[in-house]
Amino acid sequence: KNFVIAVDGFSSCGKSTVAKALAKHLNFVFIDSGAMYRAVTLYFLRNNVDFNDENQVVSALKNIQIDFVPNNEKTQILLNGEDVSDEIRQMHVSEKVSEVSAIKEVRHEMVAQQQQLGQRRNIVMDGRDIGTTVFPKADLKIFMTASPDVRAERRFAELKAKGEETTVEDVRANLAHRDHIDSTREESPLRQAKDAIVLDNSDLSQAEQLEFVLQEYYK
Ligand code: C5P
Repeated sequence: KNFVIAVDGFSSCGKSTVAKALAKHLNFVFIDSGAMYRAVTLYFLRNNVDFNDENQVVSALKNIQIDFVPNNEKTQILLNGEDVSDEIRQMHVSEKVSEVSAIKEVRHEMVAQQQQLGQRRNIVMDGRDIGTTVFPKADLKIFMTASPDVRAERRFAELKAKGEETTVEDVRANLAHRDHIDSTREESPLRQAKDAIVLDNSDLSQAEQLEFVLQEYYK
């Protein structure tokens, strides 16, 4: 049987950093489920899809093909064949992604694709509902937390390094906005799975976080 590791938590808690390091160490496939919601959001924005119109949403979803392709150390995300890895991280996408992610039809489609991606291979998947909805039987579930200040500073530094013009206040507000929608939506809200192990990384180095998770893995 294949081994599934779910890494969930609020926005910018360092989930993908831990998940990537873990996947690399164990030689598992890393899947960033948030990138899929971001790609859908980018498509909706580019094509002026009205989020509130169910028909438009359903027909748009039929025209979206998302692929992950390995490229040296990184994994690119392709939206209908185009590399959108950088654009999906920009603030204009972050501002709308939680609204798009709360749409039932969007979630059903993404969850189905994520389950498909996790079949018959060892994976580390990070997101919000991986340990609760996508893989409720995951072999190992990690729930990550970090203080709001640490999270905002980290994400701000990342965006700044990429030349995005934003402020730490805007980033903090965006994180709070997304966390609110993510944890209060009707369809598979962000929740800590009962059997998840909590990892608070506010004061831990990346090496310490990896070590913590590996200890759980080898238990
Ligand atoms: O992980 P990341 O912050 O890139 O995810 C972007 C957004 O996608 C989240 O704020 C959330 O609204 C949505 N998301 C989700 N379920 C997941 C992963 C991400 O709803 N499994």
